[in-house]
Amino acid sequence: MDFKDKTVLVTGASRGIGKAIATAFGQQGASVVVNYQSSKDQAEAVVELIKSAGGKAIAVKADVSNYQEAEMLVKTTVEAFGGLDVLINNSGITKDQLMMRMQEDDFDKVIAVNLKGAWNMVKHSCRMMLKQKHGRIMNISSVVGLIGNPGQANYVASKAAINGITKSWAKEFGKKNITVNAIAPGFIDTEMTENLPQAVKDSYLGQIPLNRLGQASEVAETALFLASEKASYITGQVISVNGGMI
Ligand code: NAP
Repeated sequence: MDFKDKTVLVTGASRGIGKAIATAFGQQGASVVVNYQSSKDQAEAVVELIKSAGGKAIAVKADVSNYQEAEMLVKTTVEAFGGLDVLINNSGITKDQLMMRMQEDDFDKVIAVNLKGAWNMVKHSCRMMLKQKHGRIMNISSVVGLIGNPGQANYVASKAAINGITKSWAKEFGKKNITVNAIAPGFIDTEMTENLPQAVKDSYLGQIPLNRLGQASEVAETALFLASEKASYITGQVISVNGGMI
């Protein structure tokens, strides 16, 4: 796949799935914006990785849950590379707690980053994509947005909402040749999952027919496909990458 004249903006690309997606696009020749919130050194390392593979990249700090910072992130992208072809809303956080113990702030923060963050990014990108009559938007959702999970009422709500908003945007933007899809990973080996108690990991593994965690690169391959011409007739879908978990 050739993304040589494409600009790709990946939110939360300093590590984990976002890093894998950003480097995969960089290796295919795209100009990549590596967004981060606090992990500056890690984001700069991703930029170096892309440059050493022959690609172009910049790191941009922005909190996607902040309306003005999201606007600045899109503006900086356009100023640096002249446009925006592929937007990948990947930034995400968890604040797990059983409902009895979950605090209002735990709910609000997760919704602000995982849902409002994606809304902010699309809000500031869609006018340009509609005008240029092409674009690819991907929202990184989660398997738990489809099946629920105890202790994650906030996170599950954000991801189920992401699946719904994906379908709305697909219907709204389809006439202008913009596809919008969600990718719903299962249990992927990143910092988000590495601190889970072993018992929780074992119970997840028992539910995965392929009997292993997924790799961030396996999610990145799906993102490359959905951004490519090969996926030109796929929109409004939630694509599972979960080892057969559901
Ligand atoms: P991760 O390793 O914890 O990385 C999260 C990324 O999001 C980091 O780059 C972080 O940036 C960024 N981020 C957090 N808050 C942000 C904010 N307010 N503004 C901008 N960036 C922010 O997570 P991951 O496992 O790669 O997950 C990536 C996405 O996949 C998330 O949406 C997650 O919900 C989803 N997902 C993950 C799994 C899994 O098993 N890992 C499964 C299903 C879905 P800083 O480093 O600068 O803080």
